[in-house]
Amino acid sequence: MSAHIIDGKATANELLDEVAAGTSEFTSTAGRKPCLATVLVGDDPASHTYVKMKRNRSAKVGMESRYVQLPGTTTTDELVAEITGLSADPTVDGILLQHPVPAHVDERAAFEAIDPSKDVDGVTMHSFAAMAFGEPGFHSCTPGGIMRLIDAYDIPVAGAHAVVVGRSPILGKPVGMLLLARDATVTYCHSKTADLAAQVAEADIVVAAVGRPELIRGEWIKPGAAVLDAGYNPGNIGDVEYATAAERAGLITPVPGGVGPMTIAVLLEQTLTSARSRG
Ligand code: NAP
Repeated sequence: MSAHIIDGKATANELLDEVAAGTSEFTSTAGRKPCLATVLVGDDPASHTYVKMKRNRSAKVGMESRYVQLPGTTTTDELVAEITGLSADPTVDGILLQHPVPAHVDERAAFEAIDPSKDVDGVTMHSFAAMAFGEPGFHSCTPGGIMRLIDAYDIPVAGAHAVVVGRSPILGKPVGMLLLARDATVTYCHSKTADLAAQVAEADIVVAAVGRPELIRGEWIKPGAAVLDAGYNPGNIGDVEYATAAERAGLITPVPGGVGPMTIAVLLEQTLTSARSRG
């Protein structure tokens, strides 16, 4: 058996087309473009690339982007003050703080300075709680993107056993909650999980969110399972051993071109939603 490959790029492009159409309509009725502010602290090359991609994409769908670049020596107080200013600025619809921030900065304090109504990256405790309670709010973007892929490919969720490997606040934990909200039975695995192979072997849906190349072996995958690999490791390698997993899975995301492209698409969709809510 060979898995059907989930084309994240195509699904993301469809969503981006919808966002571009919605942005054009918003701009003509509101008389302004939706605006996404991106904040970068320091000069980590990978973070620079991510911010550039997000700014390019926002321009491509017709949004305005505000770029705030701060030196690596920025203190927590200075960063919080900058983000508080963007939160109060009526011309800003969404705020994205690129992470990781330098080690001396209190990342949680900086995230919490984002007004929840502009938290289009879904990183505040408010957004997390709203999501966990099933209340309206912005989703963390990569988990939101994973759920969109699941829906785009009609992967059954209710009653399915989903195994999420990883429990970070921006990825593993929220994706498990979104799956739970859709009536999956969810197991979280992490670095202290006793027998990862046995857990993964039980899964109808596997979400890999670790950041360890090919940690999840192809032979662990239950035949026919859906495999969504959010891992992105140097050399374009995912967290799942792709070639062997693809022989057993029913559906699988490649790396790159699977989960990755969905993140920006959801970010921009949420920015448009935020702009519409403030008019
Ligand atoms: P993270 O904060 O480092 O969390 C990694 C998680 O993996 C932790 O919960 C950790 O467990 C768990 N883990 C580590 N080693 C393990 C092992 N041997 N067995 C089982 N679990 C293990 O990482 P993250 O920010 O969630 O990112 C995870 C991956 O997703 C990275 O490759 C990142 O690049 C990628 N990512 C992609 C996108 C995108 O596609 N747009 C967005 C965000 C992240 P403990 O909690 O016990 O330490």
